[in-house]
This record gives sequence, structure tokens and C-alpha cells, in this order.
Amino acid sequence: MHCFDTLFREFFFDRVTSMQSQRNLFKRLGMRLFSLFLSLVFSLGASSWASEALPVKHAVQIVSFRKHREQRMKIGSHRPHLAHPLVILDAGHGGKDPGVKMGSILEKRLALTTALLIKRALENLGYRVILTRSRDVFLPLSRRVRIANKMEGTLFASIHYNSAPNSDAKGVEVYYTSSPKDKERTKESKHLGNCVLHQMIDQTGMLSRGVKKGNFYVIRETAMPSILIEGGFMTNLQEFSQLKKREFLSKLAQGIASGVDKYLKS
Ligand SMILES: [Zn+2]
Repeated sequence: MHCFDTLFREFFFDRVTSMQSQRNLFKRLGMRLFSLFLSLVFSLGASSWASEALPVKHAVQIVSFRKHREQRMKIGSHRPHLAHPLVILDAGHGGKDPGVKMGSILEKRLALTTALLIKRALENLGYRVILTRSRDVFLPLSRRVRIANKMEGTLFASIHYNSAPNSDAKGVEVYYTSSPKDKERTKESKHLGNCVLHQMIDQTGMLSRGVKKGNFYVIRETAMPSILIEGGFMTNLQEFSQLKKREFLSKLAQGIASGVDKYLKS
């Protein structure tokens, strides 16, 4: 209250002075009003109002950040309705690791040819595609995963061909990893696997062996929805003769690309 007394005295009793003094008086009055406001804020409990006001502002920021992050997580990592999804294709084996060997036909070559055909089909559909290997080189599994994670792929598909001691074994199977720590990625991977398997069967008429759980390094360690495709048995005479034909591989690749497309549009 002291401040009010002083102001009143100065304002009402000293105002009979010259214009210059009046200007000074108004200047002082302004400063006093300002300091009075500050002292009111800090002394009359207005500080609690100020501290409440600040969190409101922060709360708005936090809410909008959370919303943004949730949107990014929803869009970017699992169900990617991104403008330009990035598909990571991983041709199995390579270099010193041939995979399954049937005479002169090696799994590593079949997988790379298939990956290149899928790449073309996906690019025709407007998707961006990165291959972990585009030639006959050995690539450790950790390097394949690093590429996928570093490039922040929307999804990951590893291409392989199967073998079994029983030459009757045939058909296509797709693996995904079940992770209790990341239920959302598990769900999305399984969904991706189903989309791809159905389209492969549609395109080729091959036997479906189903979408299965598999604890393979490349699909376990990648951060995005991931599948490993076993595109048929090289140890089955009928399937092997089909897989050696480029037309057939094209159909298979088209099926995988359509499955990816279906998944991304679901
Ligand atoms: Zn393989």
C-alpha cells in the first residue's frame, strides 16, 4: 500500500509544476505502476497464478508433441500410409554363401534375380526400393539389418528358396517374428506375410504352406514390419523346374509386389 500512497501524493500534489516536471512525473508514474504490478505479482500470491499459467503453456506443447509423435509412430513405423513408402528387399545369401545348391543353380542367384524382379514391379507401382545387395557379394546378417534400420525402411522382405530331405515337400511359406516386446510390429509383420502369401498363390497357383512364426535374425532384428519368404522348394522336381523359368519367377515377383502393395494400402 505504501506504493499507492506515494503515487497519489506525487500525482495529485506535485502536478502544479511545469510541463517538463509533468512529463517526468508521467514517466515516473509509468515506472511506478510497472514496479507496483511486479510487486503485486510476487507478493500477493500472483506468483501461484504465474506458475499455473506456465504449465498450461507447457501442457499445450506436450500434448501437441505427443500427438505428433503418435502420428509419426502410427504412420512411420507400423501401418505406413506414407506418401513414399520405402521397401527394403533382401536377397538371401551371396558371395561365399550360395545357400541351396541344385546342380549349377544356386539359391543366392535365384534370390537375387527374384529381388531384382520385385524391385522393378514395386517401382512400377510407385514405391521406393532398396536392395541390401544388388550383386553376388557376401553380406553378414547384421549388415542387412543395419541397412534396413538406417534407411528407416517402411517394411523389410528377405527372399529365399527352400530345401528339404523329402523331395515331395513343396509350396510357399512366409515367416514373421513374434515379439512380446513389440506386439504392434508382430501384428503388422503377420499381416504383411498374409498379404504377400495370398498374392503369391494367386499369381502362381503354388501350394500355400502358410504364414509361420520364425526366429530368423534378419526379421527379428529389423525395426519395421518384416517377413522372410521361402518361395518354393529347390529340392522338389516340379517346383524347381518352374523356378528355373524366368516367366515363372516374374509371376512370383509380381505376386510379392502385389502383396506388399495390398499391405501398404490396407
Ligand atoms: Zn536361404
